[in-house]
Amino acid sequence: MTATHICNQITKLRESIRQYEQQYGRTENSVRLLAVSKTQAIESIQEAIRCGQMDFGENYAQELAEKARVIGQEVVHWHFIGPIQSNKTKMLSETVNWVHTIDRIKIAKRLNEQRPTDLPPLNICLQVNLDEEASKSGISLNKISELAEAVTNMDQLKLRGLMTIPKPQPDFSAQRKTFARLRKAQEKLIAQGFALDTLSMGMTADYEAAIAEGATIIRIGTALFGARR
Ligand SMILES: *Cc1c(COP(=O)(O)O)cnc(C)c1O
Repeated sequence: MTATHICNQITKLRESIRQYEQQYGRTENSVRLLAVSKTQAIESIQEAIRCGQMDFGENYAQELAEKARVIGQEVVHWHFIGPIQSNKTKMLSETVNWVHTIDRIKIAKRLNEQRPTDLPPLNICLQVNLDEEASKSGISLNKISELAEAVTNMDQLKLRGLMTIPKPQPDFSAQRKTFARLRKAQEKLIAQGFALDTLSMGMTADYEAAIAEGATIIRIGTALFGARR
């Protein structure tokens, strides 16, 4: 996409988020737009920054490292939203503000140990596999309390909430039903005493349904930057 297109898309997305917030009785500005920039050129990210975009999500550790080196760590908030290998935890713990894809204690422990103490605690979402597909990452619903408990006890991590990538659903009401399950899981954890404020759910094809069900971070790639390379 050209530079003007990126700005236009950001403006349109912001307007559509505000509209859905109103429509579904959500507090104004309670939904944050995370620009998913995986495979996109650094120039596109820089353009989005010029249009006021602050949060960027990447799936591949190496790609994130390169982009963060060029753009800087202080200028924007980097979110990691891909599967994490053990040998990437050090770099991630030193670079990002958020990790949305924690589904194993082992990775959480490494991030906690490696997070530099002069940085604020790393914001964490637990990735939940709602569809119980064996091939997908994420923990199943009946195991989240245990993982939430473990992460809460790690000083350099701050548990913020839950994240999910549901399998594509054909219609709006099916999308809402899926996202409602994540919202209810979060409400249950809050009732158990966990202080959570984040639901990371909704992408280009289903973000309206996600906002309707309480998303606080929507992760948008295609609608913002166009098709991926
Ligand atoms: C790629 C990706 C997105 C963005 O998807 P779009 O459909 O392009 O908006 C969001 N979340 C995750 C975890 C992704 O991998």
